[in-house]
Formats: sequence, C-alpha cells, structure tokens
Amino acid sequence: MSNLEQTLSIIKPDAVERNLENKIKDFFEKNNLKIIKNKKVKISKEEASEFYKVHQTKPFYNDLCNYLSSGPIVVMVLEGENAISKNRQLMGATDPLKAEEGTLRKMYGISIDKNSVHGSDSLENGKIEINFFFK
Ligand code: ADP
Ligand code: MG
Repeated sequence: MSNLEQTLSIIKPDAVERNLENKIKDFFEKNNLKIIKNKKVKISKEEASEFYKVHQTKPFYNDLCNYLSSGPIVVMVLEGENAISKNRQLMGATDPLKAEEGTLRKMYGISIDKNSVHGSDSLENGKIEINFFFK
C-alpha cells in the first residue's frame, strides 16, 4: 500500500556555508524523496524562535535560535513514500558522532548543534513546519 507523505527539510547554515546544497539535494533525489518546493532564505532570530518553539524549555534553545538565524538556509518540501521517517533515516542521529554510516549527518555534520540538516519528526509537525515556510 502506498503512503505518500510530505516533510519539511532544512539545509542548515553550516552546510550552506560549505556549499553542500547540491550534494544534499542529489542525495534526497537519489533516495526517492522529490524536492517539490525549495527556497533559500535568511530568517530572523524571532522567526527561528517561533520555528523551534517546541524546544523553548531546553537549555540549548537560545543558541539553537541564534544558530538557525545566523546565515542563509535552504528550506524544502520533500515528497515520497513515508517521507517523514525516510528523511529521518537519511539524516541519521541528531549527534553526528552517533549517526549511522551513510547518513547525511555522518557525512556532513560537524557537531550536535551544527548537524547540517533538519527534518520534521511527525506528519503533524511536518504540516505545521511546511505551512511556516510555504504559506
Ligand atoms: P533533531 O534535529 O534530530 O530532530 P531535536 O529536535 O532533538 O533533534 O533538536 C533540534 C536541534 O537542536 C538539533 O538538530 C540540534 O541542532 C539541536 N540540539 C539538540 N540537542 C542538543 C544538545 N544537547 N546541545 C546542543 N544542541 C542540541
Ligand atoms: Mg526535531
């Protein structure tokens, strides 16, 4: 049975800065996640704080919001079979040191805070996140 989903993906500032945009996009396309929307933006600290508000009680929240607003990012809507879990698998663990071989964070992540990519963690959050960037 088919289960076509959409998820939000972000190429974070550390990866945009290192010109990894095309490599990361090719990796998604090769793994059957189609990029159906795409834009490069720079968001404000306020926008980052809204985007990451589920993390507002975490000790790293302020740094996280500063970081996501520190430089250009590429936001994309990826579509494919089980796109939410598929993208999470392709990204690997949050901490690049713990990420599995062959995952984006293993290949490109620098550290837990500069881990190159974001991906929605559920269908519900995916809808909220897609709407946040592509209204
Ligand atoms: P993920 O991005 O894998 O869904 P989380 O939603 O838990 O991870 O966290 C959001 C982002 O916050 C992570 O991608 C990472 O950049 C940052 N982060 C998570 N945990 C930590 C931590 N312990 N220290 C610093 N930054 C963190
Ligand atoms: Mg998350």
